[in-house]
Amino acid sequence: MKILIADDDQYHNKLLQMQLSKWNYDVVAAYNGREALEILLEADGPKLAILDWMMPEMDGIAVCREIRSKANNDYIYIILLTARDQMSDFLEGMDAGADDFITKPFKDQELRARLRAGIRILDLQSDLLAARDAIQYQANHDPLTGRWTRAAIFEILEKEIARATREHSYLSLMMIDIDHFKEINDKFGHLAGDEVLRQAVNRMQHSLRPYDSIGRYGGEEFLVVLPGCSEKDAHNLAQRLCKAICSQPIPLGDEEVVITFSIGISGFKSEKPVDSMEFIGSADAALYTAKKTGRNKVETSEFDNID
Ligand code: GH3
Ligand code: MG
Ligand code: MG
Repeated sequence: MKILIADDDQYHNKLLQMQLSKWNYDVVAAYNGREALEILLEADGPKLAILDWMMPEMDGIAVCREIRSKANNDYIYIILLTARDQMSDFLEGMDAGADDFITKPFKDQELRARLRAGIRILDLQSDLLAARDAIQYQANHDPLTGRWTRAAIFEILEKEIARATREHSYLSLMMIDIDHFKEINDKFGHLAGDEVLRQAVNRMQHSLRPYDSIGRYGGEEFLVVLPGCSEKDAHNLAQRLCKAICSQPIPLGDEEVVITFSIGISGFKSEKPVDSMEFIGSADAALYTAKKTGRNKVETSEFDNID
């Protein structure tokens, strides 16, 4: 565990460094408040700090305030160290954002116990953040395929529409539907169908650029948002995607299955705002045409928002 010690008194600073090293902490030292703040704001800076109140350039209280004013994800636990022992000092320190307060002179074992309490709080905080991230991930990702959920891909689409309109750049959409997927379920069972979905989506992802987003629109239908991509480029990409995925059968234990897709494309480039539902509807209409006219093909809709 990395701990910052900030004290302008060389002797006390060294003494604390020695003590903390003896307790197997990784020590980083600063000799004024400004230096302490810089170290604490580094990306992998210490998450626990012992700050002297009185320091040149910036005192411990000012460092506390600065740290708390930043919207930082990682919490920094701050122990203020001071010769001040009035209740009003204690309150001022806590109000500035300190988590704990130790009055000099202090006993080594007291500091040791308070460091442990601080580490417990930091551990709880990081468990909480990890749990929050996991919940956020689960809410945004489809559990079967690992791609964006319908709600998440809609949100991405709205953002990309706003960006494309602002930057007057192309944006295209791909609506992908696996052909005769019901027959795969009927022939191999639903679990095998799930496996086909997973593998098909993995192959799709490999054929896309890193900044393209793929989401599960419904059962075996996927929506792909393609920023900076014209309808023509999207059409070519869709054809390459079909070829890449359909030319190799998907292995299912001892058996294998060849799948094909139908893809509907729509694109726009305009400074006028576009309604996301109309945009999706346009790609969906192209998909419908592809289905009606034989499947295993790519169709593009006319979307009249190209200036
Ligand atoms: P089309 O070529 O017209 O698209 O025919 P299709 O059979 O693919 O389309 P249809 O809409 O008739 O059937 C879709 C099937 O996809 C029916 C449904 O049971 C299946 N499906 C939807 N979600 C899942 C899933 O998560 N897992 C599995 N195994 N099947 C699914
Ligand atoms: Mg289908
Ligand atoms: Mg379908």
